[in-house]
Amino acid sequence: MEILKVENLTKTYGDGINQVKALDDVTFGIEKGDFVAIIGPSGSGKSTLLHILGGVDKPTSGKVFMDGSDVYSQDDEKLAIFRRRQVGLIYQFYNLIPVLNVVENMTLPVLMDARDVNEDRLRELLGTLSLHGRENHLPNQLSGGQQQRVSIGRALMNAPAVVLADEPTGNLDSKNSQDIIELLKESNRKYNQTLIIITHDENIALQANRIISIEDGRITKDEVIRR
Ligand code: ADP
Ligand code: ADP
Repeated sequence: MEILKVENLTKTYGDGINQVKALDDVTFGIEKGDFVAIIGPSGSGKSTLLHILGGVDKPTSGKVFMDGSDVYSQDDEKLAIFRRRQVGLIYQFYNLIPVLNVVENMTLPVLMDARDVNEDRLRELLGTLSLHGRENHLPNQLSGGQQQRVSIGRALMNAPAVVLADEPTGNLDSKNSQDIIELLKESNRKYNQTLIIITHDENIALQANRIISIEDGRITKDEVIRR
């Protein structure tokens, strides 16, 4: 079953002579539970694609379907709920809120939904992410690897169907990088959660089931590595 479907997606930024075509007629689908790596040169449109899949950047034209429903035909309020519940975004530089501690950062998307925190899931995640004893630490009291684990916790807190990670290991050494990838792979396997990672690291790309290559806003290669 395809959980994500993208049809004729185009994104242009700016206008006139400043216009940049970041995505140019991109069409593909992603199976539920798949682990997909997106690779390609800098400036090729990878982040733009991920942001559009995550509901944080609107396409210029084309459609995104999540679980069969048209993401960008929803009003802004529904789109905000989509961002908090259906997808979990992870960034290279963590994007944690500096004045909030570990637990506050992790539970922010739940609280913004005015819902109760699932305490069992919070405990479980703190354990899986080796953050026990760090609950009250602020981001600047944590290592890079720990900060990225907090951002994974935030992404997983709402049990999203799809996790979108934009170079999640781009700022980490190789040991910490592989730890982060193992955590994402475990969630992918355990919950049949769909995982899409942008990476420049060939070792990471080769752990995916499928590698999509993007150049100049177009898909130039799409390989299934394993099933
Ligand atoms: P990648 O993630 O592959 O490095 P991006 O998706 O970030 O590529 O960028 C694709 C193209 O779109 C680049 O030419 C970039 O400069 C341009 N771009 C990205 N975001 C913006 C923006 N907010 N405003 C203008 N141009 C942008
Ligand atoms: P479904 O029956 O559609 O899988 P679930 O409510 O079981 O519905 O889960 C929705 C999605 O959330 C799943 O596809 C899975 O990827 C993910 N998920 C479920 N439980 C968790 C959890 N505890 N932590 C992280 N992700 C989860």
